Amino acid sequence: VHTAGWPLAEHGAHGGSFMYHIENNQVVLGLITDLGYQNPYLSPFDEFQRMKHHPLFANTLKNGKRVSYGARAIAKGGLQSLPKMHFPGGLLIGCDAGTLNFAKIKGSHTAMKSGMVAADVILKRAQGEWQAGQDLAEYATAFEQSWAYQELHQQRNFGPAQHKFGNLLGSAYAFIDINLFRGKLPWTMQDITPDYAQTKLAADCPELSYPKPDSVLSFDKLSSVFLSNTNHEEDQPVHLKLADPSIPIASNLPKYAEPAQRYCPAAVYEVVEDDAGEKRFQINAQNCVHCKTCDIKDPAQNITWVTPEGAGGPTYPNM
Ligand code: SF4
Repeated sequence: VHTAGWPLAEHGAHGGSFMYHIENNQVVLGLITDLGYQNPYLSPFDEFQRMKHHPLFANTLKNGKRVSYGARAIAKGGLQSLPKMHFPGGLLIGCDAGTLNFAKIKGSHTAMKSGMVAADVILKRAQGEWQAGQDLAEYATAFEQSWAYQELHQQRNFGPAQHKFGNLLGSAYAFIDINLFRGKLPWTMQDITPDYAQTKLAADCPELSYPKPDSVLSFDKLSSVFLSNTNHEEDQPVHLKLADPSIPIASNLPKYAEPAQRYCPAAVYEVVEDDAGEKRFQINAQNCVHCKTCDIKDPAQNITWVTPEGAGGPTYPNM
């Protein structure tokens, strides 16, 4: 099942869900929230929890048992967001570059094709004069000539159309562009505002409240993080770096009601108050499921996710 719109559309956000059946009578269910949302009170985690109460999902999930949980930012900007994919000594391929076809919510095929093209390019170089640290610049042309690039080109206006015209009109536009004109219309729509800059001031947005989880279909963040098998050594340096530690309280809290408390799906960020009523920004780095949302969505661009020490992080055994 793929859906679009609800529940995010009720709060002015875009996105869609997926539900797949897998082996052993299990289902995999997820909600993709477009991080270009404007209301800083929006909580992607809580949107997902309330989505599960829709009869479409509730009827499938009832009498089931929650066995795993995870979260990840998806590089879904498509063709217009692809970076330069070659550099001295390396190639950036698959989902690391962003070859996902978001219109189809599918990316394994294009990721694999980008890897196969990379293998061909490397093999050709290896058959000639090979030097370590070479820039395999011919990869750019080889990828452009592949069906994966053609597919991304055909679907390139889907995401920007959703942002520009909304779910319904955007989908209607995308249907005409992709299915009737096969992506051959002579323009490419752009989406030039970064996701973090889409966030509006809290004072200009309605405050959102979410229902309490019923612990049957919907759950809280901490019990969910527990199921992600996330672990970091307690005494390692915090791997979420603040460029300016004063910003969350001095700027993000008054302006944006500190959205990190809500966009983080693992309860890493909290605003806590001490006995004297002083507010403090707390980072519970051990909980981090490495989704990278904070790096993308922080309105002040003050948070940088760096690789933690050791092998810490989530362990998703069946996802
Ligand atoms: S701290 Fe950042 S990377 Fe870690 S789970 Fe929260 S939003 Fe994701």
